[in-house]
Amino acid sequence: MVDERTCPRCGQPFYVPSTPRRGRPQQWCSQACRRAGYEERRAAKNGAIAIEYVEKPAPTITLDEHVAAVLDSPAACRNVLRQLRARHGNGELKDAKWSSVSDELERLGNPPDRRPDDWFRGSR
Ligand SMILES: [Zn+2]
Repeated sequence: MVDERTCPRCGQPFYVPSTPRRGRPQQWCSQACRRAGYEERRAAKNGAIAIEYVEKPAPTITLDEHVAAVLDSPAACRNVLRQLRARHGNGELKDAKWSSVSDELERLGNPPDRRPDDWFRGSR
């Protein structure tokens, strides 16, 4: 079995054995990148050049998965509601693009299915 890695210098994928060999795990796609990476890091440490290492791209998450993750967390839900309330208060939701969100917020304050006995229990 092999694992896919991404070379932090050139971004090329390369493959290493899943069962690690002795010593440090292979980090670079090639001797050339290893040597250049070493030189660049040494130079960067001395402040000679600025370098940017290629990040492995994050896995793509759909909007539905984001929503599900938020709904799964009371803290995240609270955060979203607070932010929305603040934006609503600032008038930031007046933009047409946000009008449906604004409508939903108004409905939150006036649940249409409030039962009559809640009315008498002094919720207002
Ligand atoms: Zn490389």
